[in-house]
Amino acid sequence: MTQTLAILGGPKTRATPFPTRRTMGEAERRAALEVLDSDDLSTFLGAPGPLFWGGKQVRALEAAWSARTGYKHVISVNSWTSGLYAALGAIGIGPGDEVICTPYSMSATATTILLWGGIPVFSDIDPKTFNLDPSKLEAVITPRTKAIMVAHIFGLPADMDGIAEVARTHGLRVVEDGAQSPDASYRGRQVGALVDIGGFSLNYHKHIHTGEGGVIVTNDENLAKRCALIRNHGENVAETIGITDGVNILGHNLRLTEIQAAIGIAQLARLDGIVEHRRRLAAHLKRELTRFPFLTPAHVPDEATHSYYVYPLKYSAENLGMPRSTFVNAVNAELPDLGPTDHPVFSEGYVKPLYWNQLYQKRLAIGSAGFPFNLAPAGWPNYATGACPIVERMHLNEMIVLSLVREPVVEEDIDDLIRAIEKVAAARGQLNRA
Ligand SMILES: *Cc1c(COP(=O)(O)O)cnc(C)c1O
Repeated sequence: MTQTLAILGGPKTRATPFPTRRTMGEAERRAALEVLDSDDLSTFLGAPGPLFWGGKQVRALEAAWSARTGYKHVISVNSWTSGLYAALGAIGIGPGDEVICTPYSMSATATTILLWGGIPVFSDIDPKTFNLDPSKLEAVITPRTKAIMVAHIFGLPADMDGIAEVARTHGLRVVEDGAQSPDASYRGRQVGALVDIGGFSLNYHKHIHTGEGGVIVTNDENLAKRCALIRNHGENVAETIGITDGVNILGHNLRLTEIQAAIGIAQLARLDGIVEHRRRLAAHLKRELTRFPFLTPAHVPDEATHSYYVYPLKYSAENLGMPRSTFVNAVNAELPDLGPTDHPVFSEGYVKPLYWNQLYQKRLAIGSAGFPFNLAPAGWPNYATGACPIVERMHLNEMIVLSLVREPVVEEDIDDLIRAIEKVAAARGQLNRA
């Protein structure tokens, strides 16, 4: 006798809440109080001199991040959206320049291109990795293409050999959005600036955080200086540090505070443990999932390591004989919520293809005349439905995002999820009757 499903009024597979994620500890508390006691909450100065580069904690965080990743230059910023904006400014993106971008990412991956007057041109993903497919890039390159914006989505590095090859052939810059992939590596190197420049988010939802924040990484000294100038009113400083071409040296205030930086240093020390924990849970989950032919676990190519921001699953409605929404709702009903600031255990899809946002559909970004889209030839870029069919399919039918592969969840918690899936699969007749 199969049990009544929780969604139909039966008992939950598990009723006790999953362990709550706590991100701040004694080290962060001490670090923050020390800054508070020093009274130096930020010592940035938007003028030539040592304080142009930030205060003691800001520079210490950047040094620690550099030591960890092996990247020569690290520029902290007040969000990773700010980081993307600065990186795109640094590589010289301007009005009408086209940047090829993944449509399967958080919206800022693309909107920061628009902030410089650049135009995002979306290219479809690989259905196994959910990242940009290098074999599709050439089809959208035009004489106006300047760069490729890659996101290592969910924590898995994109096919960087393929992307670097296309970039080299066509003289394009590469920006890596590593917001979800700190500590992920590709052929033994940490992602971030495998080609030119990129970085990581330190917002509340990410592996480690400072409330809000981000870091840019690069091995290119010129790009690093440009980012520092854009971060901190650089028009006052550019000539004194040898940047005289004026391109995009239009300063902003993107500065991280000293308290945030101090917390960031303490958080960085936790990153190894966090990623190791998630990899252990992911390995356990993958083993357990083999019994469900309707779920395909995350694919990790040999040359990459995954850092599991979340755990992506591909769902086959045909195989189980149940629409994705029915399955997701039934499994979620079997389990407790993850809490108000977190996602449900299962989410249907990730984000909609970015070009489905009104911003692209109406081609309205800055002002009412259609800038910068009005700089592109008529009908270009293609933002119509069908432009990136794999992303659309993932969004509408196949993707399930699992938010349970994270500390302090343990293997026994994952086993409850497996039991919930088993129960729903075994009792699917109940749902078809309902
Ligand atoms: C979180 C995130 C961002 C933005 O980072 P913020 O620090 O919140 O500005 C950009 N891209 C991706 C892929 C993200 O997950």
